Amino acid sequence: MSTRNFDGIIPSSMLLELASRSPDNLSHIETILRTQKILQAARNGHIRFKFAAGKAERQIYDAKNTTRLPGTRARFEGDAATGDKTTDNAYDYHGGMRDFLKAEFGWNSIDGNGMNLVGTVHYGRNYNNAFWNGASMTYGDGDGVIFITFVTPNVVGHELAHGVTEKTSGLDYQGESGALNESFSDVLGACYEQWLFKQTADKASWLIGSGIFGPTIKGKALRSMIAPGTAYNDPKLGKDPQPDHYSKLYRGSGDNGGVHINSGIPNKAFATFAIAVGGNAWEAPAHIWWESNSGKNRVGSTANIADFAKKTVDNCTKMFPQHLPALKKAWNDVGVAV
Ligand SMILES: [Zn+2]
Repeated sequence: MSTRNFDGIIPSSMLLELASRSPDNLSHIETILRTQKILQAARNGHIRFKFAAGKAERQIYDAKNTTRLPGTRARFEGDAATGDKTTDNAYDYHGGMRDFLKAEFGWNSIDGNGMNLVGTVHYGRNYNNAFWNGASMTYGDGDGVIFITFVTPNVVGHELAHGVTEKTSGLDYQGESGALNESFSDVLGACYEQWLFKQTADKASWLIGSGIFGPTIKGKALRSMIAPGTAYNDPKLGKDPQPDHYSKLYRGSGDNGGVHINSGIPNKAFATFAIAVGGNAWEAPAHIWWESNSGKNRVGSTANIADFAKKTVDNCTKMFPQHLPALKKAWNDVGVAV
């Protein structure tokens, strides 16, 4: 059995860094332990609550700051707004991601088969994460200092995209294939947010996890797709460890072999490609990435970054040959020869 960890939007490596820099704040260690317990159980087939095959309907529950899942019914498809901002945002962003997948890729919900979009908000106390467990989403409220919310469009998009990858390429969550898995979630999360706010590629922030840090934290977001390594630099958090070039690939064993670190390399290739193409990133650029991860001509579960780059070139040649020079330049500029 593999010993890799499964993560929510906040990687265990970041929570460990936070814990080591603020040993009095136990919320980070508690978040790691709780997340690992739930996700390991889910992967071992012990999800204790099951939902019927669905009609791509939203079902948002409220844990009311307990750790009981799924919690009490808060807002289901068609229900009126609750007045709780977190619940209503979760309802809106889950629905937005569902509509984005359908409109752009003809994909029905997360699994392609209309599964209901189930989410639980207000999970636990000082719980510093949000995660997809294979059946549903769970969102903590954060500790109120480092993290203030996890219900944002690109966090929702990122996590639900892990479900898409699970059902399609199944990219193995370690090493370079894991970095590609992470990167695809960032690509879909960013494209969903840009689609939602009608932003062209040159106007987009390309930030993942913007709006989740409290006001005292020196950081814009968890990651910057366009400038990996520059998202944050704070005494409580350390510095963004992402490389922006393959020559600086992280080769250590932390973070499942750098899944949230090396994702900076394909992230930058996507963002620079989308800006070079111009217009909306969710059109040709996202369609090439979708085909390469989730379409008929997709990579296998153990693909490395070079394999994925070659697959995007192959799909670009078939789908949008006019964009081939920009795609090749984007990969070559991050040190991946195609
Ligand atoms: Zn992720």
